[in-house]
Amino acid sequence: MKRLGIVVLGLLLCFQGQAQKICAHRGFWLCDEAVKSQNSLASLRLAQENGFWGSEFDVHLTADEIVVVNHDSDFYGIPIQTSKYQDLLAFNLPNGEKIPTLFEYLEQGKKSSCMLVLEVKTQASVSSTIRLVQRCIQALRLYDLLDPSRVMFISFSFEACEWIAKNLPDFGNQYLEGNKDPETVHASGINGIDYHYSVFKKHPDWVSRAHALGMSVNAWTVDSKADMEYVKGLGVDVITTNKPLVLKEVLGL
Ligand code: MG
Repeated sequence: MKRLGIVVLGLLLCFQGQAQKICAHRGFWLCDEAVKSQNSLASLRLAQENGFWGSEFDVHLTADEIVVVNHDSDFYGIPIQTSKYQDLLAFNLPNGEKIPTLFEYLEQGKKSSCMLVLEVKTQASVSSTIRLVQRCIQALRLYDLLDPSRVMFISFSFEACEWIAKNLPDFGNQYLEGNKDPETVHASGINGIDYHYSVFKKHPDWVSRAHALGMSVNAWTVDSKADMEYVKGLGVDVITTNKPLVLKEVLGL
C-alpha cells in the first residue's frame, strides 16, 4: 500500500513537471545580437518560433489613446502617457524597430498559438489604467484574439485585475505584486497569481493554497538554474524567464 502511494505520488510529480510551461519575459530577446530588444516584434517572433508556451509583454496608453508595447512608462525619456504616439517615433529600439503599437504586436501574435501574456501597466490613475484595459480589449477583438486560449492578463494594478475578473471572468488573470495571499486575491474574483520567485521562497505554501482554490500560479522572472529548480519543485504552472532555453533544459522539455 505504501509502495502504491509512492508510485502515485511519483506520477503526480511527473505530471506536474510536464505541465509546467515556459513564458518568455518580454519575448525572446537575449538570444541574438539582431534581436536584443525586449518587447520588440522580433522578440515575439522568436518566442513563437522557439515554441515556448507564452510570451509576455507590457503595454501603456499614449495621450492620443494608442496602446504601445514598452516596459517603462517613458520611451528614451519621453513620458508615454502624456505624449502623442508620433512623439515616440523620435527614437528606435536598439534593433532598429520603432516602438510597436499593440495592433502591430497582435498582427505578429496571430501568427502562432503562443499565448500572449499581456501585462497591463499601472497608469497615472485607476481610471486611465482601466481605460488601457478597455483599449486592449478593443484591439484583441479587432484581431480576433479576444479568446482565453490566446491571451491572458497580468497586472500590478489590483484594480485592473478586479475589473478584468468582473468583465472577462473566463480569461487567465494574474495579480503581480506579491503582497496578498491567495485567499485574499481569490476573494476578489481574480483567478491567478504571478509573483516574484522570492515571494514563493517566503511563502512556499501559497502555491498549493492557490491551487486548492483553483487558481493558476506563475513565477517571475526566474533566470538562474537554481531558482528554476526551486519553483519547478514548488509546482507552479508557468515560469517566466529571460532565459527560456535554460529553463527548457531544466524542465527537460
Ligand atoms: Mg512585464
